[in-house]
Amino acid sequence: MSKPFEIPGKWEIEYKYAAGPYISKFLEGLKEKKIFGIKCNSCKRVYVPPRMFCERCYVELNDWVEVKETGTLETFIVVYRKFYGLPDPPYALGLIKLDGASESFLHYLGEVDLSRPEKIPEILKQGQKVIAIWNEERKGSILDIKYFKPL
Ligand SMILES: [Zn+2]
Repeated sequence: MSKPFEIPGKWEIEYKYAAGPYISKFLEGLKEKKIFGIKCNSCKRVYVPPRMFCERCYVELNDWVEVKETGTLETFIVVYRKFYGLPDPPYALGLIKLDGASESFLHYLGEVDLSRPEKIPEILKQGQKVIAIWNEERKGSILDIKYFKPL
């Protein structure tokens, strides 16, 4: 049996989708440098970004809260390879639990010297405090927060 043909291909698809009312409110808040979460009154968890239902209690969520722009770095990764649609490497991504939130979310880490990989463990640490650095021009995007920088 001969080897099957392989046909190389590449997809680049531009698309839009409706953010929905909860993420829309979250993104509107970012324009005003406000980070909204939503609280479950059953288990008391605060979700950031907000979601319509508690994933643990399966109840609808309606109790909006504002969380702080400071948080804790739960974990991180430094990227040294180019990925389509992402910045030129190196860059760092962190899972950040904002003060007042119960869940962490992914965002860029900035103002960090990534030029010497062996030094990264001295620069970025789990449990480290971070703060949001905002874009001057905000348009309702998760990138209205440029990145989080270590404190
Ligand atoms: Zn809950």
